[in-house]
Amino acid sequence: MKIKAYSSDLLSSNMYVISENGHAVVIDPFRDITKGEGLTIDLMMVTHEHYDHISGVNAWKEAYNAPLLCSEACAANLGDTVKNQSRHFDVFCELQSWIKQDKPVDTEPDYTCKADMTFNDKTEFEWQGHVFRLYEIPGHSQGSIGIYLDDENFFSGDSLLEGKETELRLPGGSRKQWKELGEPRIKAVPPGTVIFPGHFNSFLKE
Ligand SMILES: [Zn+2]
Repeated sequence: MKIKAYSSDLLSSNMYVISENGHAVVIDPFRDITKGEGLTIDLMMVTHEHYDHISGVNAWKEAYNAPLLCSEACAANLGDTVKNQSRHFDVFCELQSWIKQDKPVDTEPDYTCKADMTFNDKTEFEWQGHVFRLYEIPGHSQGSIGIYLDDENFFSGDSLLEGKETELRLPGGSRKQWKELGEPRIKAVPPGTVIFPGHFNSFLKE
């Protein structure tokens, strides 16, 4: 199995292409679809509904006919340009200070997309001899999830970034949900798990 990370032109968000036996699962697809060349794309997942993590859903769906799986709360926000942040993403890029943008970002203020499959709380499934386990971890956004792959790898979206406080103040963010459910589930990720975050490099959970 291979896990390849690609950094996007939208606040350097990470897209992950996980491949095995000529098949692939894509997490947080962005607009450049060439990274999927030669692989059968079985499934897309998004770690949450924010524009920098969903910008390629429609392009990948069109190119590879791959269905999208996310939480029900995420699915409910994918079609809302305020909650998915596409409407104001250019302003957000200007205001944020944690990632250096060299050039203005090409955004799509009316971007929406749709889920094909959803879950509540948690779900798991097998894929090419591997096991995915998905958990809702609300706080950064209503639709945030964490994705375990074979218990050794954890795709954390924006809920766990190395050396950064989890951002809870964006529209749809909730300190209450974070304290009640999101944070306990992040804390429960075992030490030594490889974290594949929504931005920046992979690291080991302490
Ligand atoms: Zn986000």
